[in-house]
Amino acid sequence: MNAPELWTAAAAAAPVLSYFLGRVNRWAGLAAGLLSFVFCSFMLSAEITAGAPFAALVLWTAAALAHSVYLNGRCPSGTGSPALEAALAKAAVLEAELAAVKKEASLNAAGEKRSLAVYSAVKLLSETLEPHSAAKQLARYLADFFGTEEAALYMAAAADGETELELFAQAPKGGALPQLRELLALAGGFPAQAGTFSGITLAPVHAGGVPLGLLALRGAEPGVAAQFASEISYAIKRVILFRQVEWLSLTDGLTGLWRRAALDEKVREEIRRAAAFKTTMGFMIADIDHFKRLNDTYGHQFGDLVLRRVAQLLKSGVYETDFVGRYGGEEFGIVLPRADSAGLLRKAETMRARIEAEVFSQGLEKVRLTVSIGIAHFPRDGRGPEELVAAADKALYAAKEGGRNRVVEAGRH
Ligand code: GH3
Ligand code: MG
Ligand code: MG
Repeated sequence: MNAPELWTAAAAAAPVLSYFLGRVNRWAGLAAGLLSFVFCSFMLSAEITAGAPFAALVLWTAAALAHSVYLNGRCPSGTGSPALEAALAKAAVLEAELAAVKKEASLNAAGEKRSLAVYSAVKLLSETLEPHSAAKQLARYLADFFGTEEAALYMAAAADGETELELFAQAPKGGALPQLRELLALAGGFPAQAGTFSGITLAPVHAGGVPLGLLALRGAEPGVAAQFASEISYAIKRVILFRQVEWLSLTDGLTGLWRRAALDEKVREEIRRAAAFKTTMGFMIADIDHFKRLNDTYGHQFGDLVLRRVAQLLKSGVYETDFVGRYGGEEFGIVLPRADSAGLLRKAETMRARIEAEVFSQGLEKVRLTVSIGIAHFPRDGRGPEELVAAADKALYAAKEGGRNRVVEAGRH
């Protein structure tokens, strides 16, 4: 092939160059094709002037260049291969799907953690025999569920819808939340439904329409808080009922005082404490004199009224930190931590006199009565709980023997 033939072939191939360069940019491709054609034409200028059939070549090249521009206009992505185009499109779709799946998976993981927190909280509250220690665990679930350490759960002491709320569980930073009173003030009272007040979300806990508790969290979604509150509501009710039953089993229904078992436990506890801190404590047993006679004369109902009043008098006669219990029918036990022996004797004498002075009345009936009291002092009269209680009991017996309406100290009879 001689040079003119080569240049003619190159001029005819200019559209091919235009087409492939045009995959990147169709106008750049056209420019390159035109330049290449003009250059080839220049190299053939001698043949053209000599009369070579150039018009046909020009026509062919112009048509082919136009076609290459048209083709490249239809495939703007510029890969040139339909199969590759299709593969890339499919990859893009797959990538979008993968992103969606990843997003869903992360949402599911968060959802999973949340469901686990609710499930664990409900299980914990439904099975616990020790609400106090369950509260600590519950605080952790609250923090997990809401992703905030500023979380607190308040609970009613009774499931009657009238009892005041008190703090039950608190996540580590729950103390940074305002006090219950302020929270309720923010919401304008106990909230009927979940809402956010000054950045704090409050969600009421209801069971069967009865308000049982309140959830307080910083920066939680009210809807999410309401859902959590509703999920745990019946478990909360169980805890409240459980505490009520526990309370009822520890306290005497007639007088509201501690029952004997609970008071015995207090004696043990206070002796342990007094021994550990090298302090003292006092124990007394007060027994109403001739109570059987009072019952027989005025009836059991009046007897019950007298028992309630004596319980009140005993309770109001000692410190808040002392424990008063109903030891038996008309017998009362009192634990007095840190009392010295002279103080214990004085206190017992004051109580005896106070009851002697009281007029018990019901309707027209007016009755006066007396009590006998036995007292024992730790460590002087007994080093163990049984020993101390027995010493007080023995002193009480001596008081009865001695004529009743008196106080007798253990070891002084
Ligand atoms: P003493 O001076 O020796 O203590 O005589 P007492 O009659 O008080 O003692 P006793 O142990 O003989 O009788 C106690 C009475 O207390 C018997 C019972 O009728 C009465 N009693 C016990 N529990 C209750 C109660 O819950 N309600 C009423 N009304 N009476 C009770
Ligand atoms: Mg008696
Ligand atoms: Mg008695």
